[in-house]
Amino acid sequence: CGIVGYIGKDNATSILLNGLKRLEYRGYDSAGMAIWQKDDSIALTRRVGKVANLASALPKDQDDAGLGISHTRWATHGGVTEPNTHPHSSCNGLIHLVHNGVIENYEQLKSTLSAQGVTFSNETDSEVLSNLIAFNLEQQDEPITEKSVHKAIRTSLANVEGTYGLAIICSKLPGTLFGARKGSPLILGVGKKEMMLASDASAIRARTREVVYLDDNQIVTLTNDNFSITTMEEDEVVPEISTISWKD
Ligand code: GLU
Repeated sequence: CGIVGYIGKDNATSILLNGLKRLEYRGYDSAGMAIWQKDDSIALTRRVGKVANLASALPKDQDDAGLGISHTRWATHGGVTEPNTHPHSSCNGLIHLVHNGVIENYEQLKSTLSAQGVTFSNETDSEVLSNLIAFNLEQQDEPITEKSVHKAIRTSLANVEGTYGLAIICSKLPGTLFGARKGSPLILGVGKKEMMLASDASAIRARTREVVYLDDNQIVTLTNDNFSITTMEEDEVVPEISTISWKD
């Protein structure tokens, strides 16, 4: 239902919580976030119910490194349970992501991956995306770089039928956040030494009013102070930055 992602100099946890609260009006049944820690581990917190439940469940000693993804879920596939709450992580721990939309061919993708030894831990259509990207990344057998993760995302999405807005992090690639969309809205917020991703401008306008409305079949790569957009065919996209007006 709602996506907020942050990369930058400030505390990602509080910025994401604030963004999720601004998306509450859209309705949801559970909420979660994944935060990159200063020791390079990723802290995953998920709760059924209100964003306030998530907020009170967050570890007090979270050592936030200024990178995170978060989600409010409106369940389409799988019950309203904590394991079904986003972010979803691949079984090998490489990929964590949040997803808006519906993956039409998830059962087929799931059985193909299962036959290759990939394991699943929940009932959602979304988990197949984290496992598929992580599987393709491993299959590539290349060092993990921005380029190889981008390639794994492209290869994976080429096999996906359905709709998605995605925010993705790779646990072996610090300082980088990816987004992709098809049939679900995704907006890039361009700040000062910080970048954001959101499904709705209301989630980010407290921090920046400079935005890029991504188009279908685009992938965006964000770092603290830069971003680049390509098509699924890896063609560079020249971004059009718009300013959200104060009354929006
Ligand atoms: N289809 C996904 C799920 O059921 C995403 C739903 C959403 O857009 O919130 O978890």
